[in-house]
Amino acid sequence: MKNGKAFPVPVRARYSCSKCPGYCCSYPEIEVTPRDIERLARHLGLSYDVAEARLTKYDAKEKVRLLRHQKDEHFQTVCTLFDRQQRRCTVYEARPAVCRSYPDSPRCGYYEFLKFERAHQDDPDFIAVT
Ligand code: SF4
Ligand code: SF4
Repeated sequence: MKNGKAFPVPVRARYSCSKCPGYCCSYPEIEVTPRDIERLARHLGLSYDVAEARLTKYDAKEKVRLLRHQKDEHFQTVCTLFDRQQRRCTVYEARPAVCRSYPDSPRCGYYEFLKFERAHQDDPDFIAVT
């Protein structure tokens, strides 16, 4: 301990996004802030207005801006910034804050579900849908 403060204890994640088809990116309401849009625009070399129009839509009921979605073969839809072949985020370094913080725990509920289903089916590549 230094200055009376506890050292942060490194916690190892018990999930592997590289083995997951991207459940969290199929969530329909992924909220973005102006700061997120600004970061995405810079990363993609777009103006703020173009990034906002191309990547997001306004939810008038909830009064929030959400990432647009595209059709997907496994889930009904996934985030428009998701690579459906590689099953990964195409803007990882510039992803929105809410994506950075998820799952905010050493375990991911979706990954636990996936591991259970893969073990149950005896198929390490099985893609279980929720
Ligand atoms: S659902 Fe969990 S394991 Fe899958 S990509 Fe998202 S955070 Fe990673
Ligand atoms: S921005 Fe990236 S991490 Fe966030 S939902 Fe879209 S594809 Fe997933």
